[in-house]
Amino acid sequence: MAARVPHDEDMRGVRDPDFLALGLGGTSMMSMLWAIAMGRRAVGIEMRGDPFLGVHWNVRADLYHQLGLIDKLMIERYGEDRIPRRGDGDKMFRLAETFYSTETMAGDIVADEVIDGFDAERHISGTIHHVEFIDDRWRDGVPNRAVTLLTPPKPDERPDETLIRTDMTDVLDGPSTFQGGASTILVLLRRYLEKMEEMDLDSDFEPRVRLFTRHRVVNTPEGFDRQEDGRIGFRVEALQELDYKGKFVRVRRPGSQIMEIGVPELFMIAQGAHSTDAERLGFKQEDVAVDHKDGRGPVVAQADYLAGLIEAYVGGRLRRRISTEFDDEGQEYWVRQIAVGHEEDPEVGWCLVQVPDFKTFDPIKEGLVPEGTDTQSPEFFAAYDTLIYDFYAQQVGDVLEMTKDEVKKIQTVYGPKLFTLIERVGADALLAPNGVVAGDAFGNGHFLTSGGAMTGMIGHSWRVYEYYLAREAGVPHEEAIRRLADKIKEDTHSWLHVSAKEYSEAVPINFGAERISQIEAQGGIASSSRSAAIDATRRQRHSLAPLNPSDWRRLFLRNGKVYSVPLPELHAMHPALRGQQARKKRARIIVAFVAPDLTPASLRFIRGAISQPGTTMGLIAPGSKEELPQNIQDRLGTFVSAPEVTDADQLVELVGKVKEELGPPERLMGTAAALQVPLAIAREKLRIEGLRAESARNFRDASRLRERLAEAGVPIPRYARVGSVQDGLAFGTEIGYYPLVVKPNEGAWAGNTHRVDTEEELSTLLNRLHPTEEHPLICEEFIEGRECTLEVISVDGVPAWFSATRFGAEFLVALRNPRTAFTMTLPREQDDPADPLVRRMGFAALKALGMDTGVSSMRWFRRLDGTAVVTDVIPSPPVEPIGSLMTLAHGTDIYRVWGNTIVNGLFAPIPRLYAAGAAMFRTEGEGTTVSAVHGLTEIVQELGDLVVRVEEPRIGQSWSDPLTSGCFVLLRHAETAVVDEALRRIADSVWVELSGRTKIAAT
Ligand SMILES: Cc1cc2nc3c(=O)[nH]c(=O)nc-3n(C[C@H](O)[C@H](O)[C@H](O)COP(=O)(O)OP(=O)(O)OC[C@H]3O[C@@H](n4cnc5c(N)ncnc54)[C@H](O)[C@@H]3O)c2cc1C
Repeated sequence: MAARVPHDEDMRGVRDPDFLALGLGGTSMMSMLWAIAMGRRAVGIEMRGDPFLGVHWNVRADLYHQLGLIDKLMIERYGEDRIPRRGDGDKMFRLAETFYSTETMAGDIVADEVIDGFDAERHISGTIHHVEFIDDRWRDGVPNRAVTLLTPPKPDERPDETLIRTDMTDVLDGPSTFQGGASTILVLLRRYLEKMEEMDLDSDFEPRVRLFTRHRVVNTPEGFDRQEDGRIGFRVEALQELDYKGKFVRVRRPGSQIMEIGVPELFMIAQGAHSTDAERLGFKQEDVAVDHKDGRGPVVAQADYLAGLIEAYVGGRLRRRISTEFDDEGQEYWVRQIAVGHEEDPEVGWCLVQVPDFKTFDPIKEGLVPEGTDTQSPEFFAAYDTLIYDFYAQQVGDVLEMTKDEVKKIQTVYGPKLFTLIERVGADALLAPNGVVAGDAFGNGHFLTSGGAMTGMIGHSWRVYEYYLAREAGVPHEEAIRRLADKIKEDTHSWLHVSAKEYSEAVPINFGAERISQIEAQGGIASSSRSAAIDATRRQRHSLAPLNPSDWRRLFLRNGKVYSVPLPELHAMHPALRGQQARKKRARIIVAFVAPDLTPASLRFIRGAISQPGTTMGLIAPGSKEELPQNIQDRLGTFVSAPEVTDADQLVELVGKVKEELGPPERLMGTAAALQVPLAIAREKLRIEGLRAESARNFRDASRLRERLAEAGVPIPRYARVGSVQDGLAFGTEIGYYPLVVKPNEGAWAGNTHRVDTEEELSTLLNRLHPTEEHPLICEEFIEGRECTLEVISVDGVPAWFSATRFGAEFLVALRNPRTAFTMTLPREQDDPADPLVRRMGFAALKALGMDTGVSSMRWFRRLDGTAVVTDVIPSPPVEPIGSLMTLAHGTDIYRVWGNTIVNGLFAPIPRLYAAGAAMFRTEGEGTTVSAVHGLTEIVQELGDLVVRVEEPRIGQSWSDPLTSGCFVLLRHAETAVVDEALRRIADSVWVELSGRTKIAAT
């Protein structure tokens, strides 16, 4: 046999090919296969050698059916003898069956081993068995999880050309059936073409295909040979690729000659997202803008991702997650993650996570390296790398239901690598009378749609097939290529269309138009400048990590274990609500509870905590154990009698007594507002988890609370901290209108909150209360409007759940005017009264004040103009009857829920089944003693099942105001309107007659 001419010098089948493909990704190779199957001669030019693309693709079934059709056309046209063979045997190389077959299995494969017959038992794709969508976006301001499991399509047993879809929107909107390593699928196509080339070069046939895979079009103007009629001819050079000082560099292979390819009838440039050849031919891509109808108008579709391949057994699974991230200003961002695996292959865990726009990974800002560290130094880069890896591991952990540390123990074969995705598309795919641009080079959408390769391989390449069908049907070249270019554009637009939603971001939030300037001043971020800030952040990220496509071939191994057991089950709860699962370290837990009294209100909380399984309680309270109900006595670990607890040192000593009896407590809790600061200080001294002293002071000190809220941009009333009578009068003059509200700076409650209607009243009150610097007062504007509350359960600083009440009449009016009945409603609708903006205000307030775990209660007003304003926040549960309303509306004991949150750090969201209401009674007559109750028996009878509980005033009971009387009617119904109407009926028809001593006016 005569010695074969070296491949690059053998010019058989090269000149003036029917089809020339520049760049041998999936789009080009499928197109070449169609061209050859239609009897044409194809030449392919690739500069990076063998397929290298490391990603794992989700593949629509159409590809399998197309491969089957190519196999069929090949045999029909060339006969079985001219079909390439697999391995050293004589087995015909069929693309479809090598890709997938019911006769072989999926698994951990090497494409060449399958193709060569070394591994005769496997095919190269895997099928998808699990399709899971996790929506972990915060809803209505709290973490929320919705998991959707879809049934994946079953693969067809045989390829079937009638099942090939030609509308790419249909293809991309539909689910994927297969998964496969991009490079393995590309190797399948490449080997087939290579074997065909080799087969033909070894025979007397004119080669159907020629491949030059370390080559490119000469990158000077000489590379293009423009004909008079505009058609382009090509000159190609061989390349030597080298790692030159850490960079891939390509130069013309020393001693090689330029190859004349000539003028192809049809050429296609599909060189990936940045095609230099297309650019040189004048092609331009433009950024795609998407209007999400969120008020921002069209914005560039752009997102940054971290890509990595971890060796975890994701299996035949496609899991997608969308979640919420917050920046320092509390702005919400939606980010996406995806995990793609491979059937029966424990080494494929392709995990991509989106980087929220605000994240810079700036080691200096994060305090990992000192200010002024050289950004080019290894220390700086190491810190940057740590931040990236930490973020990646955390996000991957949230997708795979693992902890960040577990993820870090898994071998990472690639990444995490930062890359950016900007949707770009060209105006026209027609480059020249004989050529088109296709695949990612024409335009690209979002990889989360698993659509890029599909658009090029299933869509664009099929258009090449249609081109040849048209030519065979006698359509002139000009018309057929015009149609080809238009169809390429149409397919890419389908991908862009399907991708649009993947770029949607959360809408920036602010607390009302009139507050924007205040927020901007305080937060330092203008909402309109959000996009500018984002751009700056991105620039910083990119200057830290330049993107380079050759990175796919420059692997860095983070060695670790292969996680080859099945993934943990998907959890029903949002990860943010599981933050403290490790809080309770053992099955048993010792709790010290401090109660200021043993009233029914305190007992409810004691019960809520002591009923938690495994809890042993040491109760610190006045009186004796015997005064407690029997069921509490039976469960109590120890009782420490303390007549009055006021300071932290005393608490430390009392907790010491609990410790002597039970061992060191892991919780130190109590609900009395006045105890929150001493409790927090004692916790710090005893190293017990819980609200910190600094935060407790934020809540307790009214002027400090207002400062924190103002800093966070939360609307508050105009106020002044008043350390003298003069200060107070000056505030009255400055604000210039009445009424005003006056209350202590520490420990305000209804009974010591006063309303003044004139300057004279203010002066009298201030002189009576005598404010000093040590014991200041707060003077603030009186808010006309409806008073409301917002109760929030937080876990580890994360608002996990909320409910809100609205008061029927203004609270202070009711106090001042006993003829006004006082009602409150906990509506069933979650937007009534706390709309999303108010909830945001509440959550922002809690964040600013430093709430950690537990129930908090916020007082706020809906002004007459509709805006909301916060007047008070406490880090403990609300006063009665709000707790009872919460219990009624949710059909669950809210005190036990509170206990579970505080003791175990756990909270499972509870649905609201009812609206609930409380009515307190108006009074008539001067005096402080109840002498008669009117209308109560009748209305309770009339309202029937609506009434859940009645705390009836007793004749002779002393009475100062409706709220402290402890008397009320509690109602419940599925409809809020029914509860409201019943409350109105009670307010109208029930009154308490007072007599006896003359009542002293509250002011
Ligand atoms: C992380 C990630 C996940 C993805 N997941 C999916 C998925 O699940 N499903 C899916 O369908 N798609 C997916 N995609 C998209 C898909 O990989 C691309 O859309 C697809 O590879 C584009 O194919 P192409 O043929 O247009 O170009 P490419 O695959 O980029 O191929 C272009 C080829 O041209 C060569 N080349 C470039 N310049 C020159 C030159 N001047 N001369 C010669 N050769 C050149 C390159 O070396 C390369 O081999 C994903 C992409 C990413 C980044």
